[in-house]
This record gives sequence, C-alpha cells and structure tokens, in this order.
Amino acid sequence: MGIAPANSPHRTTSGIPRHYTAPAVGGTTERVYDWRVMRALTVDQPGHPPALSVKDVPIPEPGPEEVLVRVEACGFCHHDLLVMSGTLRRGVAPGVILGHEIAGVVEQAGGRVTGLKPGDRVVSILTNACGKCGRCLGGQEHRCRSGVGIGHGRDGGFAEYVAISEFSLVRVDDQLNDGADLISAALFACPMGVALQAAQDVAQIKPGETVVVTGAGGGLGVHAVQAAASLGARVLAVTSSPEKLGSLAPLGGEEILHTAELDFSEMVLALTEDEGAAVVLDTVGSPLFQSAWRSLAQFGRLVLLGEVAGRPVELNLAEIIFRDARVLGASGVSRASVSQAAAMVSRGEMKPVVSRTFRLEEAGTAFALLASRQPLGRLVFTPQANGG
Ligand SMILES: [Zn+2]
Ligand SMILES: [Zn+2]
Repeated sequence: MGIAPANSPHRTTSGIPRHYTAPAVGGTTERVYDWRVMRALTVDQPGHPPALSVKDVPIPEPGPEEVLVRVEACGFCHHDLLVMSGTLRRGVAPGVILGHEIAGVVEQAGGRVTGLKPGDRVVSILTNACGKCGRCLGGQEHRCRSGVGIGHGRDGGFAEYVAISEFSLVRVDDQLNDGADLISAALFACPMGVALQAAQDVAQIKPGETVVVTGAGGGLGVHAVQAAASLGARVLAVTSSPEKLGSLAPLGGEEILHTAELDFSEMVLALTEDEGAAVVLDTVGSPLFQSAWRSLAQFGRLVLLGEVAGRPVELNLAEIIFRDARVLGASGVSRASVSQAAAMVSRGEMKPVVSRTFRLEEAGTAFALLASRQPLGRLVFTPQANGG
C-alpha cells in the first residue's frame, strides 16, 4: 500500500492517508482510492451460505465523544453467524457492518474525549454507551439506557476502522505489555468477559460447586469452562464433538459427550451421585434445554448465555417451583469485567483460545467453518490484512 509521505498535504493529522493505492481485490492492477475509504465486509444477502463481499466504504467520522479505532482484530461471534444466516433479524440495522469483538489502536479522538488518545490499544464492549445515564455511571455500560449494539444496531469491526464511544472501550496497554497480542485481546470482552461475568456475577459460582457447561468446545463455552474453573468449581464440560474431547481437560473441565442418542443429563447425574449440578452455564439454548434442565440440582441455577435456534421450549412451571430453581439470563459485559478478564489473562488464570485468523476476503470460508462447529475456540478476522 503506497502511503503519502508524512509531510504531504494529502496526509491528515490523524495519520490516515487522504489518498493511497492498494492492489485491486482479486487482481493485480493498482487503483487509487478516494481519501477516507476503507475495506469492510458486507452481507449482501443473508442465507446458508450468505452472499458476502468486501467493499470500499467511507471511513466513519468519530463524534465528539467517540474515537476512531484502527481494527487489528475482530472475533467472529455466533451472533454474527446468526445475522449472516438470516436467523437473527431483530434490531439489526440494514446494511450494518457486523463484528463486536474489537481490538485495535486509537487512530483519532473526538473533541470531547478525555480518557483515550491516539496510539492507545483498546478493546470494545458489545454496546455503544452514552457514559451519562444511571446505568453507565453505575458500571453497567453494557445496559446503557440509550445503548446501541456494536455490529448490530450500528457499524462494527469487520472493517479496517470503526467509530466507538470512549465509554465503550477499555484500554489494555498494560495487559498487552505482559505478552498478549491484539488478536488474543479481541476475545477479552466477548467471549471471555461475557463468560466471566455470567459465571461470577450472575451464577455466583462458589468453590467446590459442580458446574455444567454446554457447547463447551465453542467460542463462548471454552471460556466459560475456564471462568468456572477459575472460581474453584468442578466443571463438567459437555460437547457434541468427539474430536474436542481431550482439548477441554487442560482448560479445567471433565469432559462429557452429548449426542442424539446420549442425553448428557444421565452422565451429570451419574457423576454427582444423582444430585445434579448446582449450576448449568448453557451456551446452546433450546436444542439442549431438556437435558440442561434435567441436569440441575435442587436450588440449582440455570444460566442462559446463548440461543442458537430461536425456538420455544416446553417446561411445566411447577418444576421450577419444586426444584427451588433459578433460571437466569446473562449477556453482555461491563468494562470492569473486561478489565478483570484481561488481568486474569496476564496472570495466566484464563487463556484466550483462538482457533485461527482470517482476512475479511476469507469470510465465506470462516462462515462455513463456524457453521460446522468444528473449531475449538474463536475464529478472528484481521481486517488490516489486505486481500489482494
Ligand atoms: Zn460475541
Ligand atoms: Zn448510558
């Protein structure tokens, strides 16, 4: 990429070139882009597979309380897959750029930004927060009264740049000095912080409790296993992938295989002397609901973190009453939980599990791989890698 020299009038003070040349995607000829243009992944038609393409779009202009982030890495969440496949439509802005697991470098700060400066390395939470409402001021930025989902209601990180509120970003320079890179850092909020917050604050797991994690080989599950183990739980890790058995034990789980013929609740009961588990962290949702419910002990907490199918389930409410059970939802992550996850990574208490990285131009391959449920851990896009 030919970038204008530093003293050129065609270079902005933020360092973003006004003009640059780059190889045309799929070709060899170079072409000159207008200034403030970036590559972004767009969903042209949702489906299985979706029609995806990488297009040139304007670089967003950050508002007064926003910063422009140069995206170095952005995790490919199951949420993005559900939007790409057309399963999830509610609240999705038309033509939105997906991706909420963003790690990058501050390129330019808006006029009223006080907490961040160009060059800072940052990680985003999942919601663009106002920084002023009661929830933001109370440490619940992820439930901001006027919050908008990043990569859902507004543009996200499957692009070279993204504009985000400074109140939705966590500076991670200190943690990264300890060795983690920005590709690992893309996982600090979702799935790591999400899993940690669900295990610690929602499930309130105590040392010695038995905790079942479903979808344990997936991007969220593999970190929920670690979060529960870090809190001192005995973790029973449920996976439907035989090839993932053996991978989960080093992360703190005793492994259980779930198949169409093999209901995992039988094994959970067998492994707990028919007591059941104190907590089920369910990352899968309706397809496993009956097994998850049957695995739950008296006074148990069923924490729902994911719903892959969007279908209703059947439950006699009396069963909740007689079991003294609690059914809890958990999603999103506060900045404090992201900082905690990052600190745990730098202390070696949790490990970001990245399956592999992709260029934006390889999104079709990434979609097929994530849909196959084969990867152990997260797939991560590196938008700065050019697709020529
Ligand atoms: Zn996510
Ligand atoms: Zn707010």
